[in-house]
This record gives sequence, structure tokens and C-alpha cells, in this order.
Amino acid sequence: MDVTPASEGNAVPLPAPKLGTLARLAPEPMKVVLNWGRRYSLWVFNFGLACCAIEFIAASMARHDFIRLGVIPFAPGPRQADLMIVSGTVTDKMAPAVKRLYEQMPEPKYVISFGACSNCGGPYWDSYSVTKGVDQIIPVDVYVPGCPPRPEALLQGILKLQEKIARESLEERYGTTAPASVAQLTSPLVTPPPGGDDR
Ligand code: SF4
Repeated sequence: MDVTPASEGNAVPLPAPKLGTLARLAPEPMKVVLNWGRRYSLWVFNFGLACCAIEFIAASMARHDFIRLGVIPFAPGPRQADLMIVSGTVTDKMAPAVKRLYEQMPEPKYVISFGACSNCGGPYWDSYSVTKGVDQIIPVDVYVPGCPPRPEALLQGILKLQEKIARESLEERYGTTAPASVAQLTSPLVTPPPGGDDR
């Protein structure tokens, strides 16, 4: 069981979202607390596409119970999710839907590619209709190998992701497009018209 961090894959460059004030201006102890909170409250959106999805379901049930790690498998949809787990064969026909739902997730968001098909096409790597890895269309944080991977492999992948979240700086991850100063944060949204307020 060997889970590969994203730095060794063909990760797609991340878009540059607008960061919130806390993500950029908060002191370091507060960022540690924020990362701690993110790490242990991962609402997951399962993008189950084939057989690997069954192993994902097994990992969420009582025997393996990934809820004890702070992973909540009941996100109503991508807009309420922090983590997308892509499990199964991504086809070229399905790829636009995967990308679209990923884009609907709020920042900060994470992706685990679960299984050989999702990592690189798996047994169907030479098929005319299979995408050669979900990282061709969205950035992946952790790759879990196997065909299918066992539920324990997913647990290890989740722990790897949590380690990554614990030491991450959103500013480093995304760059910064947040306001540069407190003065800018408190500046009026609408500039008063010339001549002052004559109402
Ligand atoms: S990696 Fe294997 S088990 Fe998983 S979806 Fe592909 S063929 Fe099925």
C-alpha cells in the first residue's frame, strides 16, 4: 500500500481563487487552528464511476469507518463539499461533468484520485474513450493506487491528505489575490460621487 502525493503526478496548475481575510492576514497560531479544523471536517463528495466506488462505500461503513478520521460522507452536493474522491473509470464523455462539479466546490478544496483507473486509466489505459488520469482535467492532491485499492488504502490516503492540510498555507498554495492591507479591507465598496454627499 503506497499512496503517492500529488507532487509526483501530472497535477494541473491550480486556478487562483480570491482568498478570504483570515487565510491571508491571520497570525500563524490562528492558521494552525484553521488547518486543524479543515483537516478534521472534510465533507466528501464521492464521484463514484465504477468498481472502485464500492471500496469507497466499504471504507465509509462500520468496519473501516472513515468518519472517525473526520471525513463526513454525506455532503449534499459539490457546493457543500471540501473533498472530492474520484473512484472509478473516468471516460472522455464524463470528464466535462467531473470538471464542472469540481469547479462548483468552494475553496479550499481537495481531490483524492482513488484507484488505477482514476490515476492513469488503469486496465483501460489504451481505450479510445478513457481519460488517462483524472489529473488531466482537475488538480489531484493524493493518488491511491490499486485495482481496486482496499479500504485501508483509502484511509492511508486520507491521512496523507490531512498531513498535507496541516502544514499548508493557502497563500502559498494559491498565491494571493486578497486585499493587500486592512485599509483596503475597510474601504468603501462604492466611491462617493465628486462634491460629497448632497442628499
Ligand atoms: S481501478 Fe480496477 S477496480 Fe477500480 S474502477 Fe478501474 S477496473 Fe474497476
